[in-house]
Amino acid sequence: MRLDKFLCKSTDLSRSEATHQIMLGLVSVNGKPATNPSVQVHENNLVTLKEQRLIARPSRYIMLHKPPGTICSNIDEAYPSLFNYLDIERAEHMHVAGRLDADTTGLVLITDDGRWSFNIIRPDMQCEKVYRVGLRDSITADAVSQFHQGIQLQGEKSLTRPARLEILDDKEVLLTITEGKYHQVKRMFAAIGNRVVSLHRQQIGPVCLDQDVGDWRHLTQDEINYF
Ligand code: URA
Repeated sequence: MRLDKFLCKSTDLSRSEATHQIMLGLVSVNGKPATNPSVQVHENNLVTLKEQRLIARPSRYIMLHKPPGTICSNIDEAYPSLFNYLDIERAEHMHVAGRLDADTTGLVLITDDGRWSFNIIRPDMQCEKVYRVGLRDSITADAVSQFHQGIQLQGEKSLTRPARLEILDDKEVLLTITEGKYHQVKRMFAAIGNRVVSLHRQQIGPVCLDQDVGDWRHLTQDEINYF
């Protein structure tokens, strides 16, 4: 990880305070002064600040049931941030792996491990995300094959990857997709002339939401290791 990140994970310094300490020449890596905040360090490296050894805290991995009307940024903007529900220290160091729209509810994975979250969102991982979707109009019989073959979204060069559509009811479906384009689910249904009226993410890879609205828990080691 970057040296400035290592300082944040081993002290109570913010990223800008960590950078300042590094620029002042107060940080050494394996006995040599390090003045480049972006230099890569490994957890086994001997990193010192003012000659005191620093030990990085372990990364944290959390699932949270996102309430409606919250945003996935860690700053309140037009809507309150879902991080207000995360009553842990240094929540501002964490980020969401795969954001949801303000009106979408359900499973969000939150971490301070950038490499782990990248594995979830990077397109070539084809990580499955399962959404329960409420629709304005009845679902048509050919939607299952349309979604399987790929949908042409407005403004995109290529079709969406094959998606699995399970019809639960006239106006309710389960949709499994393996990519995460901007407003993807809403745009897929708009492309076939329908409209999403409710959207809830219930699963990412093997991780199933099992918390009540606004509640959270740490992921198990198996859940962490999957990604
Ligand atoms: N697709 C959307 O359109 N919105 C979300 O929040 C998630 C996926």
